[in-house]
Amino acid sequence: MFKKHVMFIMTTLIALLLTACSDEDASSSANGEDKVQVVTTYSIVYDIVKNVGGDLVEIHSLAPIGSNPHEYDPLPEDVQKATDADAIFYNGLNLEAGNSWFDRLLETAEKDGDDAPVFLMSEDVEPMYLTSEGNEGEEDPHAWLDVTNGIKYAENARDGLIEVDPDNADIYKQNAEEYTEKLEALHQGAVEQFNEIPEEERVLVTSEGAFKYFSKAYGFHAEYIWEINQENQGTPDQITRIVDIIKEKAIKGLFLETSIDPRSMEAVSAETDVPIMGKVFTDSLGAPGEDGDTYIDMMKWNIDTIIEGLSN
Ligand SMILES: [Zn+2]
Repeated sequence: MFKKHVMFIMTTLIALLLTACSDEDASSSANGEDKVQVVTTYSIVYDIVKNVGGDLVEIHSLAPIGSNPHEYDPLPEDVQKATDADAIFYNGLNLEAGNSWFDRLLETAEKDGDDAPVFLMSEDVEPMYLTSEGNEGEEDPHAWLDVTNGIKYAENARDGLIEVDPDNADIYKQNAEEYTEKLEALHQGAVEQFNEIPEEERVLVTSEGAFKYFSKAYGFHAEYIWEINQENQGTPDQITRIVDIIKEKAIKGLFLETSIDPRSMEAVSAETDVPIMGKVFTDSLGAPGEDGDTYIDMMKWNIDTIIEGLSN
């Protein structure tokens, strides 16, 4: 009886061990240890790199969806992923500059050397600059809101992936070509649709002044409560300034970013009696499965929302 019992336990243990071993095999290929391990700084860069890398990459993205990538506190897991990464992609143009969080992460992960596989998505983008007091001359990061810059991002993602994984260069080239064709069509569609709105009515008011590149590309004039996300957002002075502009220019609609605390814009709306026409995506994609959950969808959403908001 006792022996039988031991035998049973032994058999069970062996079975468990075997299962554990095969589980581990399955998970190590399923979680993609043979894939190129990539870290991206926020959701928009994540999506563009994902489109170019396809199944060959596994991506860990840092600033969560819905959050503000200007400021981020990396978690221990992020440091580990950055240390282990084959490639890291970031926006640059001052985006990941708050508290130098990204520079500090690269240093901790020992990816701050000249030859580290860290790739700038905005390489070759012509920078635009901030003008508000205290920020004069700093680069404005929001280049991706002009889809022709999104195409550059995709090309830079392609070049970075080819550099770290040259064996699959043809696949990255193919993916990038297909993706940039879609972006080209998106851009052309945006130009055509916006041209239907009289130029003097193409005025955007948002919380953060994220629409400089967008405005230049699509013929808009952009106003904001504060120029760039940082401390001191939505101060009484900033609110008074924008309220005056809205009244002076007889602006009919306001837009609210999904990654920004709504209270300042709600205060502006209450004070001016000008409605908030809808949400727009600037610094983050929508949550998976919801509106704007890819770069292409967020841009489409913005185009439709702006056209509808300004046509009423
Ligand atoms: Zn921003």
